Amino acid sequence: MYEWIIIGGGIHGCTLATSLLKSGKIKKEEMLIIDPHSGPLERWKERTERIQMPFLRSPSVHHIDVSPFSLEKYAKTTQYDKPFYGYYDRPSLDLFNEHATSVLKEANLQDVWRQTKVMQVSKQNPFWEIETEDQHIYYAKNSVIAIGNNDLNYPSWGENMSSGFHLFDPALNMQSIKPPLLIVGGGITAAHAAISLSHRFPGEVTLITRHPFRIHDFDSDPGWLGPKYLSAYSKIKDYDERRKMIQQARHRGSIPSELYNRLLHLKKHENLFMIQSEIETACSESNVFMTREAKKLRPATVLFATGFKASLSNQSWLLNLIAKENLICANCGYPIVEESLEWCPHLFVMGPLAELEIGPASRNIIGARKAAERIIKSIS
Ligand SMILES: Cc1cc2nc3c(=O)[nH]c(=O)nc-3n(C[C@H](O)[C@H](O)[C@H](O)COP(=O)(O)OP(=O)(O)OC[C@H]3O[C@@H](n4cnc5c(N)ncnc54)[C@H](O)[C@@H]3O)c2cc1C
Repeated sequence: MYEWIIIGGGIHGCTLATSLLKSGKIKKEEMLIIDPHSGPLERWKERTERIQMPFLRSPSVHHIDVSPFSLEKYAKTTQYDKPFYGYYDRPSLDLFNEHATSVLKEANLQDVWRQTKVMQVSKQNPFWEIETEDQHIYYAKNSVIAIGNNDLNYPSWGENMSSGFHLFDPALNMQSIKPPLLIVGGGITAAHAAISLSHRFPGEVTLITRHPFRIHDFDSDPGWLGPKYLSAYSKIKDYDERRKMIQQARHRGSIPSELYNRLLHLKKHENLFMIQSEIETACSESNVFMTREAKKLRPATVLFATGFKASLSNQSWLLNLIAKENLICANCGYPIVEESLEWCPHLFVMGPLAELEIGPASRNIIGARKAAERIIKSIS
């Protein structure tokens, strides 16, 4: 029996695990993290590596450790070369990952790791019974669902294409992709991928975006991290209204200005072609695609940078759990939880699942820190 079982060992699950261990309230032996990867943050590393993201979008105080200045201190003590970028001190991806590794090592997180997938969660009073793919059953007093976002979104013409891959499809092997390439999407993932791939295949990459580039420094206004917007938000009891506010606040499909300038530079030198349009007809057997303006494109590979589905994760154990425990969800399908992020006694959520409570930054790294703070406060 464990005090805490955290389902999902990404940024969110690991931030909470670190905070719980560092708070001194929980001993290593009392905690388990269940995740199908071989170690912490693997999905994060795989996705960011795939698009060759050099710097994070978020500032240096957004990381997985407890003290806000931990990352800056780490950069100083290790005398890191070129640690930060720009006005907001955005950390380099290598620095962020190195710091995270050192924090997780210090907390001995690998010792509480079980590499498997959760397949069923049910209440066996007073504990949670958690069944895994490798047919083990674990019992926990408290469970946390921190499974992130994995339901990939494709345009309707792009599903089941033999030469089309979502950039976050774990099966995609970037080394074997063949140019010419068509990248579909107008957000930060598309921009990073277009920049790195047009260095690798100059003049053989086309980026097609549905809308003009939306330039914003962050995913949402930093006012959403504190009382400026959150105090009014937390008073709203109508969850449709909260969802509307989140949708308006999140700058979906946006990029910071320096990425935009790099795209323009590559375009000017004809290393990258950019089209603002949509694919209207697609013949996936012959790989011929026609834009709205009847421009013909013949890529060898199509890469989708079209994000994730907006709906709740469709993992069947989660849907069964909602039904069996009568867990409350808003009309948008997402959990309605307490301020402590408890969905029902001793069952907590983080990330997208905590969005209606934490607000527009819930999915981000700072959302993980905020969620961990609230969960730990509730058990004090
Ligand atoms: C390319 C990219 C760049 C980003 N850059 C930034 C940035 O600069 N700043 C920022 O604040 N945010 C950024 N984000 C957003 C966000 O911070 C990351 O997506 C972050 O990784 C989310 O963490 P997570 O733990 O919620 O999800 P994940 O990293 O997806 O981790 C969830 C884990 O849960 C596991 N899991 C799922 N189902 C089960 C199951 N049934 N049983 C057990 N385990 C399960 C998954 O395998 C996974 O390991 C970025 C996102 C992407 C994709």
